[in-house]
Amino acid sequence: MKCKICGKETTIHAFGMPLCKDDFVRLFERRVERILKKYKMRDKKIAVALSGGKDSMVVLHYLATHDYDVFGYFIDLDIPPISEISKNIVMKSCKEYSIPLVITNLRKEYGFTVADFRGKSCSICGTIKRYLINKVPREEGAEVVATGHNMDDFIEFFFKNMLGKNYVWNRNMVPYLPSEHPKLLPRIRPLYLVGDLETKLYADILGVKYSPEKCPFAKFSGWKEIFYDIEKKKRNFRHEMIRSIWEMAEFFPEYDVELKECKICGEPTSREICSFCTLKNKIK
Ligand SMILES: [Zn+2]
Ligand SMILES: [Zn+2]
Repeated sequence: MKCKICGKETTIHAFGMPLCKDDFVRLFERRVERILKKYKMRDKKIAVALSGGKDSMVVLHYLATHDYDVFGYFIDLDIPPISEISKNIVMKSCKEYSIPLVITNLRKEYGFTVADFRGKSCSICGTIKRYLINKVPREEGAEVVATGHNMDDFIEFFFKNMLGKNYVWNRNMVPYLPSEHPKLLPRIRPLYLVGDLETKLYADILGVKYSPEKCPFAKFSGWKEIFYDIEKKKRNFRHEMIRSIWEMAEFFPEYDVELKECKICGEPTSREICSFCTLKNKIK
């Protein structure tokens, strides 16, 4: 194959065309930058929520090597062996980029871990992450939180939301979520226009370190494989899909919840007591 842009011989096929390494990296970064620029991230203090996986490590790499004002945030969930492996990769990388890293150790600071609950671990993890990823970076002075969710994740969420009739959630399938409460940080998703394939390729080409370990509790969904199968017959399927989802998001119904502050911890919630405190109370 020859690179569609410069004609150089290549084995990479991405963004619907053969591309040499240099042109692939350029197109990838252009898509990431498009999101960051549109939402004016250049003058913001950004916390990157790091799991140690390829997506968040690529976000960290991009922001750190393009002079954004950024620091890393890692939650040690105490899930052996992945938490330890991921933490080491995160610590090493932040040191290499010379950027600050904030770590929350769930067991030490909150007295419990995911392992204290039987079953339903993914939703428990989700509750813990959503809570801490907002609270801690805000206390550390961040103005916005960047997460590693990518294009394929949002397409998968979109289909799941449709089939589960959770239409309102599709309003959030966008690259930027503004704050709805003084204590709620806005969210930016720099990988909104690139998927698993592209992010892994980018990490491998540039030598971005990441943990290949998957969470032992995660279930195999199969959705993404379907999108890649469609793409074999329908060129650019994922990119066209995500652009439609972005445009469509505002047409989904709005949910009218007023955020107040949790009676126990003071963090924003739609209920009297937030789901993190509810979770914590279950253990005691
Ligand atoms: Zn080229
Ligand atoms: Zn609370």
